[in-house]
Amino acid sequence: MDTLPALLELQGIHENLRIIQRDLTAFPPDMSKLDTELKGILKRQESATKELAEARTKAESLSGDLKLAQRLEEHAKTAVKQSTHKVQYTAAIRELDDRERQKAAVAKPLKEAETRIAALEKETTELEIRRAEVQSQFDELHQIFLAEHENQVAARGVNMARRAELEKLLEPAALARFNKLIQQRQGRAVVSVENATCGGCRTKLRIPLLAELREKGTIPCEFCQRILFLPPKP
Ligand SMILES: [Zn+2]
Repeated sequence: MDTLPALLELQGIHENLRIIQRDLTAFPPDMSKLDTELKGILKRQESATKELAEARTKAESLSGDLKLAQRLEEHAKTAVKQSTHKVQYTAAIRELDDRERQKAAVAKPLKEAETRIAALEKETTELEIRRAEVQSQFDELHQIFLAEHENQVAARGVNMARRAELEKLLEPAALARFNKLIQQRQGRAVVSVENATCGGCRTKLRIPLLAELREKGTIPCEFCQRILFLPPKP
């Protein structure tokens, strides 16, 4: 099957959709401001959630360390109470001092981690409230904006439906190749050959390739991989 007409139409549809998308995201200043704020909030929410999970993991591990330190301190206290000789007592007191220092060394970072968790929880709650506010303001304006651009919205629907129809006509591998070229070559996947030159990268075609092109109708450019075709003779 000659896929050239479908490929050319598909390329035109990609261009239409690109222009429509540009129009439908060219927001007026008030919407643009809300859109920027919304993106900023979402980004901060994402990192705050990650920071919160990290702080919780850290606090959990520190609280385990603290429990152990408390148990050791209790043992040391008991040893002090039970010591009967002076030498034994001095050693027990020294041991208790060490245990108390160890406990303090864990308690301080744990307190810090807990403070951090509380601050992050407060921040994420506030962010979510603000996000909902901004989102609803944006949605309200977006409804009006889309109503004002109803032609573009309708055209987008028509173009997308036609794109789906055309894509069904192509082999999956050929479609994947075409879509990749559309992305990598700024929307110009299929180009004509004029004066034996690729219309995309301006490379001169070798003679055997020209013959192959005449025979097959389309071939990929050796240099830029764009799909080449010969324009119909006038
Ligand atoms: Zn080329």
